[in-house]
Parts: sequence; structure tokens; C-alpha cells
Amino acid sequence: MNIKVLTLFPEMIENTLSVSMTGRAIEKGLLEIEAVNIRDYAFNKHHSVDDYPYGGGAGMLMQAEPIYQAYAAVSEKMEKKPRVVFLAPHGETFSQDKAIELSKEENLIFLCGHYEGVDERVVEEIVTDVVSIGDYVLTGGELPAMVMIDAISRFLPGVLHNEDSAYTDSFQGSLLEYPQYSRPETWHDKKVPAILLSGNHAKVDEWRRLRSVIRTAKFRPDLLKNADLTTEEKELCKKILDDEDFVC
Ligand code: SAM
Repeated sequence: MNIKVLTLFPEMIENTLSVSMTGRAIEKGLLEIEAVNIRDYAFNKHHSVDDYPYGGGAGMLMQAEPIYQAYAAVSEKMEKKPRVVFLAPHGETFSQDKAIELSKEENLIFLCGHYEGVDERVVEEIVTDVVSIGDYVLTGGELPAMVMIDAISRFLPGVLHNEDSAYTDSFQGSLLEYPQYSRPETWHDKKVPAILLSGNHAKVDEWRRLRSVIRTAKFRPDLLKNADLTTEEKELCKKILDDEDFVC
């Protein structure tokens, strides 16, 4: 996958994504990430890329033309018109399903806003997806772009050691992941659930499914409406939702 990030802070992207999982994916040639400095496409001698918003109001806006020129420079080298993701608080909320969907693209462009945002006309002209990472306001689109790139990269073949693990993480099938334990068997007088030491894989799977359902009902009941639950699981969820002090 080939990713271009249009930003005023290329070093943020380069320094962060060159380590850990994305760094390894880049080294293996599974992922290419280029941070493109929008300021390089400024059209005035001061290299400024922002101006006052028409109609007044606080702060400055990123101007349309430098963004458009940066987009044109990177997209003209791509065979097909790429999807362009604009990070913005008013966008659709990013999700695991969106990460899977975008992981299938060969090329992706991310547009990071700054200041009070971006001149709407360039958004209308080049953007295909407006995405938010949550209901709060950050200073710029760089962190949201990196959040998205990390989540998307997990679904690229060969990036994770265990290919299945991205598909068994939380949100798969609209359920959260079950609790997990490692050595030692007893820590601070807390024992690992005996079933996990039994070697009985069918029973372990059954236990994990049950714990996923319980965890989802407790922490994210909003997800349950899209989960494929048995009648017994639905009844259990109802009990959990009716009883705040439910212990299982
Ligand atoms: N004035 C804008 C508003 O009220 O919606 C907020 C602008 S914010 C200070 C600057 C930039 O940060 C935005 O253009 C966007 O690219 C990015 N940003 C901030 N919060 C975000 C979020 N929750 N999700 C995605 N991008 C965000």
C-alpha cells in the first residue's frame, strides 16, 4: 500500500510511523508512507498557507490552493484516482470496518487540517472520505491520520506476525475481545481462570465467547445490536444491562 500524507508537519508523521509495526511494514516493503509538506506548494514568497476566514471569526484557515497543488503533485503519479481522506471532527467516526475497507486500497491520501480547518472548496474538490477519530477537537489532523494508518496497516497481508490476530481483535463481529492472561498462573493472589489451563480447546473457545459477550454488554452495549447472538446470549446481555452490579 502506498500512502501520502499532506501535512504542515511532515516530521511528526515520519518520526512516528518509522518505528514499531508500521516501521517494520515499511522495511519489509509492504507499506510506503510519504509525508508531503503542503508548505512546499505555497504560492507566496513568505510560504504562508493560511489566511483569515471570510465572514470573520476566530483563527486562520488553511488555503485551498497549496493543498490542491500538493494533491495534484502526488495524485498525478497514481494510475487510478486515489481515495482522499480528510481528517475532521465533523466526519464519520473511524471504525474497524472502515480500517478494513481502506486497507484494500492500493493508494491512499490523507489530508491533515490545522488552525481552524481547511477552505471548504478544496474539500469538495478532492476529498472522498471525511473521517473523525472521536468527539473531541485536536490541534491538527496528524495524530488522527497516524491512528488511522496504524489501524489500516494491521490488515495488510504480512504486516502482523499472526495474520489472524487482526481479525480476532475487538470489534470483530461487533464484540469486544475476551480478557487475556499470561504467566505466572497466580499473581497477587489472583489465579488465571482454570479453563484456560485445561488444554480443552473447545471449552476455551466457549469461555472466550461468553467473556466477549459479557465484556461487550458491560462496556459497549451499543455494539450488541449488530452482534450475532444466540437466544441464551441475548438473555444474558439483558440480565447484565438490567443489573448494574451483575457479576459472572
Ligand atoms: N474548527 C474545527 C472544528 O470546530 O471542527 C476544528 C479544527 S482543529 C483545531 C484543526 C484540525 O485538526 C482539523 O482541521 C482536523 O484536520 C484535525 N482534527 C481535530 N480534531 C479531529 C478529530 N477528532 N478527528 C479528526 N481530525 C481532527
